Amino acid sequence: MLISEIFYSIQGEGGLAGVPSVFVRTSGCNLRCAWCDTPYASWQPEGKPRTVEEIVVAVQSHSAARHVVLTGGEPMIAKEIRELAAELKLLDYHITIETAATVAPEGIACDLASLSPKLLNSAPDGTQHAAWRKKHEATRWQPSVVRAWLDGGYGYQFKFVVAQPGDLDELAGMLASLKRDIPRDKVMLMPEGITQEVLRARAGWLGDLCKSHGYRYAPPPPDRALRQQAGHVIQRLRMASATFKGWQTVAETQSGVQCFWPSVDVGSAAHSTWHCWRQAGSLTSQ
Ligand code: SF4
Repeated sequence: MLISEIFYSIQGEGGLAGVPSVFVRTSGCNLRCAWCDTPYASWQPEGKPRTVEEIVVAVQSHSAARHVVLTGGEPMIAKEIRELAAELKLLDYHITIETAATVAPEGIACDLASLSPKLLNSAPDGTQHAAWRKKHEATRWQPSVVRAWLDGGYGYQFKFVVAQPGDLDELAGMLASLKRDIPRDKVMLMPEGITQEVLRARAGWLGDLCKSHGYRYAPPPPDRALRQQAGHVIQRLRMASATFKGWQTVAETQSGVQCFWPSVDVGSAAHSTWHCWRQAGSLTSQ
């Protein structure tokens, strides 16, 4: 299956916040959110094909880890995702699946289903992406699929990305339509935004709304805006020049986001490393 990246980090949100986890990010998604922070796994899916065996070996290389997060893109559309989950379960890993809940679980091995149905605020621009907008809107909310996750005996949590106060009415209606008893502390609300200023502003009113409604406030990961900007910078570059088609991995560093570009085109170097800078929104080579 196509894998965008495998990395060992700290889970930043939800019931397992703080737990060291190996993240396996599949590439490819059946949605196209306007504000997607991993466009390299959705809008421009990239990565390397890896077998289940290779992925398991990569996970096991982090010997202290007992938790694995299958994320994306949309991990549930990845070829062999069920085989991968089954193998990891045999090895006694705790498995979290981060999914937009548009694909039914059908018995997949999973301990925590982190369900993130998308609200209307996620719809891509209809003038620039008419076909994707139509597909996105037809796909993003499927109550019967969400119910299949809830009724499948999995631990679960919801995460909604919120852009304006009115979004709470929309998500409340969606949850009510499921006709299941969903405790509000299983529902996380995260502010949408690609700049720290916007995130800070939205954190204020969203935190107040969480307090008044009983939902959990989910702070965006510290690198979320950075990753999102970096992803869009890479997209712009890729559109501008075919030279950048080889971009492969985006990883966090203290100073920015690293984009590794393994290519013989960069001269004698085996690969080139570029930093996408938060403020300049541009790239500088290293
Ligand atoms: S579902 Fe997730 S990965 Fe897919 S486009 Fe939306 S935010 Fe990106």
